[in-house]
Amino acid sequence: MRWGAGSVSGDGTRTAVLALLARRGPLSRAQIAEILGLSPATVTSSTRRLLAVGMLAEQEPRVPAAGRPSIPLRLVPRSAHAIGVQVALDHVATVLTRLDGVVVDGASWPFDPAAPEAVERLTELIRGRIAEAARQRRPLLGVGVAVPGVVEPETGTLRMSVRLGWNGMPLAARLRAALGVPVFVDNDISAVTVAERLYGPSAECADFLVVAIGQGIGAGLVLDGAPYRGAAGAAGEFGHLPILADGPECVCGNRGCLETQASTEALARQGREAGLIGPDAGVGELGALAVAGDERARELFADAGALLGRALAGVVNILGTSTVVVVGEITPLWDHVRAAFDAALAAHLLPCVRETRIEVRPWEERLIAVAAAGIALGAPLAAPRQRG
Ligand SMILES: [Zn+2]
Repeated sequence: MRWGAGSVSGDGTRTAVLALLARRGPLSRAQIAEILGLSPATVTSSTRRLLAVGMLAEQEPRVPAAGRPSIPLRLVPRSAHAIGVQVALDHVATVLTRLDGVVVDGASWPFDPAAPEAVERLTELIRGRIAEAARQRRPLLGVGVAVPGVVEPETGTLRMSVRLGWNGMPLAARLRAALGVPVFVDNDISAVTVAERLYGPSAECADFLVVAIGQGIGAGLVLDGAPYRGAAGAAGEFGHLPILADGPECVCGNRGCLETQASTEALARQGREAGLIGPDAGVGELGALAVAGDERARELFADAGALLGRALAGVVNILGTSTVVVVGEITPLWDHVRAAFDAALAAHLLPCVRETRIEVRPWEERLIAVAAAGIALGAPLAAPRQRG
């Protein structure tokens, strides 16, 4: 398994070892070294530190029929926890997870990012969760916060979020100063991508793409084993792929972006403009019409599917990724999107990447909050060089 262009080093080794044991269960040091492609000495020194702090424990030695006995190491799930926070347009969702990524509990609150005291309110919500974890005597590793916007991976500063209206905000620094615990901030789709890299079914893949399709459209990229973020964290803005020369204005300020035609918000808008659904209705109502057999509703989903398939084919042709994971609010409606999407994708993929696997994941309400906890568990892979 590759972990970036070089080998894993420093705290990255810790992250890799913990995530591997969370996924696979107990393994010997030799097995860990082999699977992660690390030297036995590196694994020995890294696991020694993790044993010393109680995150790992040794099990009874396994005695093989031939050869030396080996001592399996196992994760101690309750030895450390993380709080994951999703800051969305209209709500804040939080979860508390154990070291193995299993969710202990979660909660959600209405939230208005445009309110003058929005960051103070966010701080108080997180403070309440930290106090709750302390009451339950759960040791806390840190807090991961996922936001829709461009985040500087090194500092956790939110450079730009058109959705939240927060620009140039040193969010990680502000939360850290107020809360006094390690806080890591990252883009929401980057967080989902890293969680997939650490704990998901694609964990063993060195190259994959996560495409999130909901109110907005974004992508996360793992290339050669490491998340790819681009200059100052701006990679992955798949939703702003220009597809129409003079289309409707996008939230980014440009015109004709993919997001204006194929996001769930765009679908709902098209349904309203066509008079198919009421002025307050959303994509769920449009989906219900499609299920009921309404041809015009089905056509809107098919049009979006064709655009998404064609756009994605272009991205896969450039990157050569062998796996694409599709997540987001559109996935419960994928039955109406699939045929046109598959056809457009197949028509535009180059022959050398036609075997690319598309995995459409079931919609999970807490996906981003759980991934945000992974930022804290997965630092520094998730938030390189943020020092909490
Ligand atoms: Zn745009």
